Amino acid sequence: MQFSQLHISPSIIRALEHEGYVEPTPIQAQAIPPVLEGRDLLGCAQTGTGKTAAFAVPVIQLLSADRSAAAGKRKIRALVLTPTRELAVQIDESFRTYGRNADLRYLVVYGGVSQKPSEAHLKAGVDVLVATPGRLNDLIGQGLVDLQDLKIFILDEADRMLDMGFIHDVKKIIAKTPEKKQTLLFSATIPPEISKMADSLLVNPVKISVTPDQPTVEAVEQYVYFTDRENKPALLAHLLKNSGIESALVFSRTKHGADKIVRLLHREFIRAESIHGNKSQNARQTALNNFKNRTTRVLVATDIAARGIDIDELSHVFNYDLPEVPETYVHRIGRTARAGLGGTAIAFCDYDEKPLLAAIEKLINKKVTVVEDHPYPMLIHTPRPRQQQGRRKSPDGPPQGGKPKAPAAPPARKSAEPPFEWPNRPQRPGGGPPAFGRRPGRRPARRKNNSYR
Ligand code: AMP
Repeated sequence: MQFSQLHISPSIIRALEHEGYVEPTPIQAQAIPPVLEGRDLLGCAQTGTGKTAAFAVPVIQLLSADRSAAAGKRKIRALVLTPTRELAVQIDESFRTYGRNADLRYLVVYGGVSQKPSEAHLKAGVDVLVATPGRLNDLIGQGLVDLQDLKIFILDEADRMLDMGFIHDVKKIIAKTPEKKQTLLFSATIPPEISKMADSLLVNPVKISVTPDQPTVEAVEQYVYFTDRENKPALLAHLLKNSGIESALVFSRTKHGADKIVRLLHREFIRAESIHGNKSQNARQTALNNFKNRTTRVLVATDIAARGIDIDELSHVFNYDLPEVPETYVHRIGRTARAGLGGTAIAFCDYDEKPLLAAIEKLINKKVTVVEDHPYPMLIHTPRPRQQQGRRKSPDGPPQGGKPKAPAAPPARKSAEPPFEWPNRPQRPGGGPPAFGRRPGRRPARRKNNSYR
């Protein structure tokens, strides 16, 4: 399948070719033609499937062809609502990339940063607005955003909006849009509330479902290292030093934990930065940019901060702490092996996390390969007190419901963090570098001319 078969205009095809895209991904092939025809769409797909281009490309083409907007100040004609700031920035970048040859103005607005620069752009006129719900509602409330001329509305990651408690904000925004518009709704899953919303929002929609998880996860080589909790920093430093890992996204369960990992890696002269909800938006964006342009080799993130982050050619994902919710493991390791490329996922599992690993293996329906030969094998084989007790909080979001899956433990002492000492390596024969790593030549140096399959 060629992009030209999807009736995409030559100037957009040139932009896609410039990105090295050779052929459309399945969601692009299915979504672009009906969206170009003006149909509403319900897309059951998640980040990593190429869904951004699936909506951005037809939106750019439709707005460019809309002659009615040629005269006067530009009005917001397309709105993309997305749950996280990082996703918003990425979507805006994608519009600019795919629309590089189009005469359209794009703007992204999200909370946590001054709104002043956005005000000037809004006053000057914008064609495509990408926004997170809270900031957009603020701007609408202040009379700085008017959605009366909206032609196309895209609700991205609708199920995450629900999870993150944004659905009320989303409904408020929808109420400010004209009745007659084209609507595209994307959601990785369709829980009942989203299904209800889709019914009221979409008119005779085309329904598309792509399931990236299985193929994506299939393409990821997965390993687990059994080790004790206090040896995890040393094991991480050991692997980063000895395994030729070019870029690693490390998942920590907590914001505090993420910062601690960064401090420990710095002591080993490994460049690392963290990204989580306690950091200012600018600090998060800088850390992300440094990681993307390879200034920093290691990015340590909590789940919410990392959600949807699209990093080209990320080779390794570390589950430094195993997630409490097994589906989160799939989302995390899906950060690598994007768009059909291979990748490696490494999990660290201490004794207390074994039930979490079992739940993950049940979900993915396979055993994760155990790396036996490493210098920090698990020595503690009894449950131990955990630092946090009771109802866990998700890394930087609202509390998660459901039973805690980790084994019950006695109340934790409230104490200051003890000074960290690198543990002595257990004397163990054959504890050399781990038997994994990127196979030479597996990944192209750049994604140029890299076909999706
Ligand atoms: P998305 O799901 O939109 O976040 O896209 C996931 C990744 O796939 C991004 O890095 C895109 O640049 C890349 N991508 C999107 N469409 C294509 C394509 N047709 N060919 C190759 N890569 C693509």
